[in-house]
Amino acid sequence: MTTQAFPVRIEWMKAPPAKAATPLSAAALELATRLASSLPDRETLRHILATQQPDEIEVIRQAAEKALLKNCGDTVRLRGLIEFSNRCISDCYYCGIRRSNRALARYTLKLAEIVDTARWCGEQGYGSVVLQSGERRDAKFTRFISAAVRAIKEQTRSPELPDGVGITLCVGEQSPETYAEWFAAGAHRYLLRMETSSPELFTRLHPATQTYASRINCLKILKTLGYRVGTGVMIGLPGQTLDDLVDDLFFFRDISADMIGMGPYIPHEQAVLPYMEAGAAMPDVATRLQLALRMIAATRLLLPGINIAATTALQTLSEDGREQGLRFGANVIMPQATPLRVRRQYTLYDGKPCLDDSAGQCATCLEGRINSVGRRILRDNWGDSERR
Ligand code: SAM
Repeated sequence: MTTQAFPVRIEWMKAPPAKAATPLSAAALELATRLASSLPDRETLRHILATQQPDEIEVIRQAAEKALLKNCGDTVRLRGLIEFSNRCISDCYYCGIRRSNRALARYTLKLAEIVDTARWCGEQGYGSVVLQSGERRDAKFTRFISAAVRAIKEQTRSPELPDGVGITLCVGEQSPETYAEWFAAGAHRYLLRMETSSPELFTRLHPATQTYASRINCLKILKTLGYRVGTGVMIGLPGQTLDDLVDDLFFFRDISADMIGMGPYIPHEQAVLPYMEAGAAMPDVATRLQLALRMIAATRLLLPGINIAATTALQTLSEDGREQGLRFGANVIMPQATPLRVRRQYTLYDGKPCLDDSAGQCATCLEGRINSVGRRILRDNWGDSERR
């Protein structure tokens, strides 16, 4: 494996798409033919991430969009995001809610507030919710989640959704018994990001108590239990290479992921990566944004039927980042539904958007954004991927 670092600042970031009238270069034509005729191989995936040619970038984007429309249709699936607690026993070095961040007031929403918020999401037609929090493994927490899942299921039944909204849990590494209990309570999807498929990089991002092997094991258990499993990585981490990212793409395939939620790494002032203090360089904002968009396109081309989220982190780097994500092949959005009064306490990274917009404002704004790129919301539907 080569260890070539990311290209430094690249000017094509802001280049407009190639106009229809502009003839494509021979290389872009060849790339278009290759992408149309077969699944991308390692060399092609690497090229998708690395090319700096505007006409090739537009060819990649169009190929990803075409694959999306053919395999998943033009709808965007919504999962109302409820960040119900920032209490965390883990200490991921990159994360703003890590245990060691003492500058943060900790909160956990009351069960009734979580259920009310989920019910509101259902009434908006979101079809699914994500319950996300920091990590805890005590029995009180396990029971609390089971109770929340059951209550949400009961209270969001409707003629369109007789089994209530779909529930994705995103609460970290747990025991097989706990995962099984929550599945039995009614959660059918689980989002657990691998963060990186590189064992070396994973080790640099986490304390020794949080291991690569344990994370992989959790993903495998979740699959075995019958969850639809989402995973993903952070993109543009200091020290990460293009080859690491290509490995991530094959990792998504090999783990048979049903959903991918990935986004750019964004620093947090209370969560400085220890190895950055030793001088590791991080790609600049434009490079991280472009890499994240290319990763979406590459995932769509490699795994055409999968669900891919256009994450909030994209919007943090660019005002229209999530729309760009949709244009590069994403088909899932997680509208912010966390109650306003606690939203600032769930800052995973600096500059998180929508901190002052109510959930209602987020819903209105989102529909316009989705329509602006020629897509429509899939309402009152869990919105699972066709892949199984
Ligand atoms: N505790 C659960 C877990 O670890 O899966 C769920 C919550 S965790 C805060 C959700 C995700 O936030 C992580 O998987 C990570 O990828 C992302 N995240 C945390 N800090 C980040 C940062 N500085 N930049 C980008 N993403 C970040």
